[in-house]
Amino acid sequence: MSFVKGLRCRECHKEYPIEPLHVCEFCFGPLEVVYNYDEIKKVLTRDAISKRAPNMWRYKELMPLNGEPTVGAQVGFTPLVKADNLAKALGVKELYVKNDAVCYPTLSFKDRVVSVAISKAKEFGFKVAGCASTGNLANSVAANATAANMENFIFIPNDLEQGKVLGTLIYKTNLVSIKGTYDDVNRLCAEIAGKYGWAFVNVNIRPFYAEGCKTYAYEIFEQLGWKVPKHIVVPMAGGSLLNKIWKSAQEFHKLGLTDDADMKLYGAQATGCSPITTAVKTGHDLIKPVKPNTIAKSLAIGNPADGFYAAKAMRESGGWGEDVSDEEIVDGIKLLARTEGIFTETAGGVTVGVTKKLIEQGRIPRDESIVICITGNGLKTLEAVVGKIGAPEVINAKLSEFDELYKTMKK
Ligand SMILES: *Cc1c(COP(=O)(O)O)cnc(C)c1O
Ligand SMILES: [Zn+2]
Repeated sequence: MSFVKGLRCRECHKEYPIEPLHVCEFCFGPLEVVYNYDEIKKVLTRDAISKRAPNMWRYKELMPLNGEPTVGAQVGFTPLVKADNLAKALGVKELYVKNDAVCYPTLSFKDRVVSVAISKAKEFGFKVAGCASTGNLANSVAANATAANMENFIFIPNDLEQGKVLGTLIYKTNLVSIKGTYDDVNRLCAEIAGKYGWAFVNVNIRPFYAEGCKTYAYEIFEQLGWKVPKHIVVPMAGGSLLNKIWKSAQEFHKLGLTDDADMKLYGAQATGCSPITTAVKTGHDLIKPVKPNTIAKSLAIGNPADGFYAAKAMRESGGWGEDVSDEEIVDGIKLLARTEGIFTETAGGVTVGVTKKLIEQGRIPRDESIVICITGNGLKTLEAVVGKIGAPEVINAKLSEFDELYKTMKK
């Protein structure tokens, strides 16, 4: 049974039935899934959720499928780590890391959105899946569509890291590398989706795809003991995750699952691709597209689809946006690794770096709860740290050589 009412335009509020549509035909506004919360409230209690299996489908009433998911049944319920060492390093009292660097099966939060999108595409009867990707989405669509026995075509910009490219090819997908930026890739995919009639998870299936993001936040609230944190720092590419974290807090509050939705949202970008945080910092409503130039390739979207609404959510919540240099990104990756033993990719470096900056600026107070969103795995972006974290000591297999080395290694 589905609790979905339909699709609705975020701008003019025109309603549409559940179809593979993503923009309003009247005003070109983005479409969003609308639910019947009164009915959901009757069944989705804290108690009911707690008894279900530890995966993202424990909130299935708030997901836009008619039936059970056909792929990704085990995705989600990643750890919320109480990060006391990092808290100490940053000089704050209460800090948590939501760690989707270990999300099943492809080690980023994209597995959440893809399991919804591919399952929905199958419900719609599509035979072929595709995506325009900055890397992690490519990995996840290739893995999940393959597992769902669905032919798939993946489109990426041609400057991605080895881990992202090989981590896609391994699934024997059809991978197309475009000579251009992500924004060029995305434009092409919109044309292909129209002409070939394929399900592009983040183009014509986008309203359903985006709903998958919400489970990342539901889990945080549940893991905090049915509470929202006071502050949450979120990496942004297209701005979808940040928007949906905001929607999740409103939904949980509306359903009586949390006492309030009093949470400030902070968006994080790389300075080399910061169209959304720039809009927030300069007080502009409109997002001015940029040409990306940063090592945080997973966040390198110069013309973010949900940027306008992400900036609005930050303002409404009382949060802020900030960005960091490539050097600060690497420092962020290293800081998280040496304090908490978590190896994140460049997007996580952005989040940690921005968190540090916002605390130093006094924008995030030191005595209230903070969650930072770690969304991807460091093994996929080794290029970012090669040559910046030292090298192993090399010796022969002789005790005397180790004895000598040990003297020099002792701190
Ligand atoms: C895609 C991605 C994001 C940002 O997602 P949006 O919803 O497009 O803002 C953040 N982190 C990682 C690792 C990603 O792959
Ligand atoms: Zn409209």
